Amino acid sequence: MRVRFAPSPTGALHIGGARTALFNWLLAHGSPAPGEERGTLVLRIEDTDRERSTPENVEQILDALRWLELDWDEGPILQSDRAQRHGEVLQSLLESGHAYRSTATADDVKNYKERHGVQQGFRGDEGRAGDQKEGAVRLKVPDEGATVVHDVIRGDTRFEHVHMDDPVIARSDGSVLYNFAVAIDDLDAGITHVVRGEDHLSNTPKQLLVLEALGAPQPLYAHLPLLHGPDGRKLSKRHGAASVQELREAGFLPEAVRNYLALLGWGSDDDATVMSTEELVEKFALERVSRNPAQFDETKLRWLNGIYIRAMPPEELARRLEEFTGREGLAQAARISQEKIQTLADFWPLAGFFYDGVSDDPKARAKWLDEKGRETLAQARTALAETDNFQEESVQRVLDALQERLGCKPRDIYQPLRVAIAGTAISPGIFESVSLMGREETLSRIDSALAKVAS
Ligand code: GLU
Repeated sequence: MRVRFAPSPTGALHIGGARTALFNWLLAHGSPAPGEERGTLVLRIEDTDRERSTPENVEQILDALRWLELDWDEGPILQSDRAQRHGEVLQSLLESGHAYRSTATADDVKNYKERHGVQQGFRGDEGRAGDQKEGAVRLKVPDEGATVVHDVIRGDTRFEHVHMDDPVIARSDGSVLYNFAVAIDDLDAGITHVVRGEDHLSNTPKQLLVLEALGAPQPLYAHLPLLHGPDGRKLSKRHGAASVQELREAGFLPEAVRNYLALLGWGSDDDATVMSTEELVEKFALERVSRNPAQFDETKLRWLNGIYIRAMPPEELARRLEEFTGREGLAQAARISQEKIQTLADFWPLAGFFYDGVSDDPKARAKWLDEKGRETLAQARTALAETDNFQEESVQRVLDALQERLGCKPRDIYQPLRVAIAGTAISPGIFESVSLMGREETLSRIDSALAKVAS
């Protein structure tokens, strides 16, 4: 099996593109039949759109794939590097009469259709006889019959030739267009399975006609269902992160993203949700990909990401957090935050106060450091100052005793204390936080909080 991922470098790698890359990667890594080697994934950069393709975008896409740990076996092949080969094939099609030059403008096409009835595909008029030496190159679509796309996921789709225009496969300057280049490149790379987004289904008959004109074999096709947002509309920026880069910046883990992307349009027999990449490789099958649009829901991804974060060894979480924030020495705070965060980006707002000092949340201060709160905080300070050590259990013991003595609710003590040490009403567990902060710093922050409110 030889598969490929063929992004156009016209922007960031979108979530839909990443899902296509993943499905191809899973196929290439899937268990081969006994005695066979595993498949090969070819990466091809489709930069035929010279204006919109930039080296920065290529780099961005490669970066996103590397971050997702979706490595390729061959490539990256730049489509633009294959211009000479494309030119040769184009010439052979012109010579064999399968293609012709046509100077027809958009208006000519429109007039033609009005003359022949709009259901009739454009046939290039005189140019079709092969007597024009200039103009764009069009492929001859047979007058009769139909091209049928056999798709592993979608079954057969029939495209009647009579409705198809003779497609332009090269501009008058000789530069080739996508539907031509893709067919040649897949053929030359020996691609056996073309797995890509459903938006390309309507291009497939044109690619098949190119292959047919060359007498070349067809690959198998599988068109993946579109991605929708939770509102049922096509996935876009309006639904939150739309690119892999954005997911990365939002603090998602690559392994959780892979797991989640795999569930977009596919599911294992046993309906499992949390699946390691090894399990995905083992279970993935194109035959189980759905035809229906899949829903990308960032809330669900957050939930899944949280599962991966909690399952991670604490030292590993610390390492990821250090990489993500660019800060060092996060091990302790990472350990006490592990149960409370769903993404790497959740960490700093929760635990940054250990490193950057108290943040300023006037609302939280007004709410929890009112007169009664200050009173309680002062009592907590006295109690904490008297403990002989600051281990989590000791802190808990002291605060439990205080609560009993005051006959108040736990949060009447915890929240003022939190606001004092963190500046906000959110932090990891209060005992763990106080213990980690240590006696000196805790007491000093309580003192500042009391002084600040008093002034
Ligand atoms: N370059 C196309 C895209 O990025 C993919 C074409 C293909 O997979 O055939 O949408």
